[in-house]
Formats: sequence, C-alpha cells, structure tokens
Amino acid sequence: MAEQEIARELLNETVTYAESSVCRHKLLLHYFGESYEKKDNCGSCDNCLNPKVKFDGQEDIKLALEAVVSTKQLFKSKHIAELLTGKKNRRYKSCPTRQKTSFLGLARTMISAIGVPL
Ligand SMILES: [Zn+2]
Repeated sequence: MAEQEIARELLNETVTYAESSVCRHKLLLHYFGESYEKKDNCGSCDNCLNPKVKFDGQEDIKLALEAVVSTKQLFKSKHIAELLTGKKNRRYKSCPTRQKTSFLGLARTMISAIGVPL
C-alpha cells in the first residue's frame, strides 16, 4: 500500500471516529483489540451524554441512489450531494428540468427529515 493510501486510510478512520454515534470508550477499546464489558452507554463520553438524533433514512437512501442512477453514475459523490441539497451549480443547470424538480423534491424531503434548512 502506498504511503498516500495509508494516510487516506488513517484519515478515513479518524473521520469515522469523529462522526460515529457509538460510545467513544467502546470504539477506542475496539481499536486496541479490547472489548468494552460494560453496557452500551458509559455515561461519560459525548455520544453517551448527548446521543445523536436518529431517523429512518431508508427512503432518503433510495432517493439518493435514484439520483446516482438518473445521472448515469457520471458524477462523484460531492456533486450528487450538491444536487441533493439543492446547490445550483453549473452541472445542476445543465440537468434536464425533470431531474431538477426531482432533485429539489429530494432535497426538501431530506432536509425535513434531518431538520437542516437549505
Ligand atoms: Zn460512552
């Protein structure tokens, strides 16, 4: 594995740790090959003290996959995310009107689900 790939893998692990909603104690012990014997909630880490809001994202994922398919898998994840959040960039403007309507509807659906304004 090239040095750049190793660095990318370490960065991805760090991002995963930062974004995880799992107990930090449990994650750290797992990283070092140990297991957390207590309950799922340690009662002292940020995730246990302030659990992240969870929602059923099954429909959102379906719509996101539809966006990938409808753009014929030509775009990277960043562009798909921009389409889904309603960002009107050059590529968005080049999409057919039907797709724009679909993406905006998807964006509204996703935003209402997670409660973040456009
Ligand atoms: Zn915890």
